[in-house]
Amino acid sequence: MNRQLTLMVVHAHPDDECLTTGGILARYAEEGVRTVLVTCTNGEQGDDQNGVKPGEPGHDDAAVAAKRLEELRESVGHLAVEHLELLGYRDSGMEGWEANGHPDAFANVPVETAAARLAELMEHYRPQVVVTYDETGGGGYGHPDHVQTHRVTVAATERSGIPDKLYYTAIPRSAILRMFEMMKESGVDVGDFDPSADFGTPDERVTSVVDVTPYVERKIKALQAHESQGDNIFLLRMPDEARMQAFSHEAFERVLSKVDAPGHEEDLFAGLRDS
Ligand SMILES: [Zn+2]
Repeated sequence: MNRQLTLMVVHAHPDDECLTTGGILARYAEEGVRTVLVTCTNGEQGDDQNGVKPGEPGHDDAAVAAKRLEELRESVGHLAVEHLELLGYRDSGMEGWEANGHPDAFANVPVETAAARLAELMEHYRPQVVVTYDETGGGGYGHPDHVQTHRVTVAATERSGIPDKLYYTAIPRSAILRMFEMMKESGVDVGDFDPSADFGTPDERVTSVVDVTPYVERKIKALQAHESQGDNIFLLRMPDEARMQAFSHEAFERVLSKVDAPGHEEDLFAGLRDS
């Protein structure tokens, strides 16, 4: 009997699941792998409906969280995620925001406290493969909740000893530059987005690239499900060609492998499949 393969992806906010891992979630689910998405916060610091920004008068944290949970459920439907687990922590907001100071903000929760809860989920689902962000929160992003998600996932991996392989999401620097050029050429308003030399993941850190071309449409549907955050999702406004380039492959840095897997792989379960 083949053993149950399980993928666990750990993200900070509702909507983070789409861009860097939407394709692997959809693809592995279709292959019969059990998929688990863990979302650490409720996303209270997102935009309110009618475009009210966090911190502005009239921003209703509870209503934003409720709306975003609804959107997350729709998104995971598109991605065929089998199990959605919500840790329910409070969104810390971007670095420097007043929300950072809230004692219940995820970034202020002791790593070991949250890691104990995540380790319990690892014990329950026994994922061979776990995916989260790198130490910068993902290619230099730096959001306090993403950095915390990284720390908590690494700690839970060590504590439980369960995952055979641990990956960080990666957006290769070369891919970002290519995409940015493509967007400029086609006259897209890229706002204040200007990839600095240290933006994205250095290409030499990328060990694994998964082709998710057949799942691009579903990734886009999943992103669109987060419509209350549409202001912040400029990728939805990209020209088709650039979007295909940005969505069709998902890259990762493998940081732990207890099994024999090639140095460069196209499958996160390489070395874990019964032959
Ligand atoms: Zn996020």
